Amino acid sequence: MKNLLDYTLSELEAILSPKFRAKQIYEWIYKKNAENFDEMLNLPKDMRANLAQKFYFDPLRCVKFEESSDGSIKYLFALKDGNTIESVLLPMKEVEVDEGGNISRHARYTICVSSQVGCKMGCSFCLTAKGGLKRNLSSGEIVGQILWIKRANHIPYERRVNVVYMGMGEPLDNLMNVAKAIQILKEPDGLAIAPRRQTVSTSGLGAQIKKLGEMDLGVLLAISLHAVTNELRSKLMPVNNAYNIEAVMDAVRGFPIDMRKRVMFEYLVIRGINDSVKDAKTLVKLLHGIKAKVNLIYFNPHEGSEYGRPELADMLKFQEYLRAHGVTCTIRQSKGLDISAACGQLKQRSQNLSPVSNDGDKLTDTQKSKS
Ligand code: SAH
Ligand code: SF4
Repeated sequence: MKNLLDYTLSELEAILSPKFRAKQIYEWIYKKNAENFDEMLNLPKDMRANLAQKFYFDPLRCVKFEESSDGSIKYLFALKDGNTIESVLLPMKEVEVDEGGNISRHARYTICVSSQVGCKMGCSFCLTAKGGLKRNLSSGEIVGQILWIKRANHIPYERRVNVVYMGMGEPLDNLMNVAKAIQILKEPDGLAIAPRRQTVSTSGLGAQIKKLGEMDLGVLLAISLHAVTNELRSKLMPVNNAYNIEAVMDAVRGFPIDMRKRVMFEYLVIRGINDSVKDAKTLVKLLHGIKAKVNLIYFNPHEGSEYGRPELADMLKFQEYLRAHGVTCTIRQSKGLDISAACGQLKQRSQNLSPVSNDGDKLTDTQKSKS
């Protein structure tokens, strides 16, 4: 059996005859939320039966979920082989002003997806790093996370959804499958999520950043910087021994990015380690000449971690320094802090949670009302 979500529209067209069936199937899956081939009524019956023998399009089963007081929901999914991954739905309000100057607020969603089972990068602050890398996710397993979450939460097809590759795993260590997922997600007959609404976050694999840039997909880039000296960065992130700060910055400078957009630098703030104004000063220097925005993230302590959550006052001072020196800087609201925000943490705590039903339509009412 093959995962149908692994196929771009043109790949599907190449194996189906007549080829217009591919578009119909795409629409059933991505626009009309079909759950099985029998629902695809405009396909001939024998074709439906044939497809059902060869393909599936439900690569995930939800094992657990946790909803935070701020509305974000974290999911633990089991893959067909029993491995588990996490994804998060982050609802936010977006203010829109129309031509007449009327202001309206719409729910906008960001879905944070995993790209691998585990991760081999070994960052010392990250829970996902602990078990090492189990395997890469296929493109269809990445696409499946978004499809499942949209469906279970009844997010209307037209509603804007952003995708961030900030869940478990290092997306650029699984570049080919991630690149293909980006393309499947953007298909106009599929989920139609433009690449400029998709952000690939990396710990800084310089050569892979270059390759991603050469593909010129139009995706946005986020760099997990977390430290401004090579000494500290190597301690936090072993990848810095292969690609140090200067190498990462060079790769960023060469990355094609939409004129109106910026490269995001994620900076995990750890108490007493990288939270001083001196660090902020060095950061401003490092970013000189780069169209950047900085996102400060509270370190989220987990059992056995040697680091501490930063003080709000230090976060604000850090942010203030960057802003005063012309660098756009936001503090990531600790969305879902009460649901163990950082990826890897739900998986670890899953033993303590109550199980949920396997399919989206049987989730609780609170789940259903999210649209
Ligand atoms: N591997 C990629 C993709 C995202 S990693 C990368 O490193 O960029 C998952 C995200 O969780 C990263 O943004 C990382 O900074 C964050 N994270 C990991 N451990 C965390 C913790 N203990 N507290 C807060 N954020 C954490
Ligand atoms: Fe991997 Fe990212 Fe965690 Fe580092 S922070 S171990 S790169 S998932």
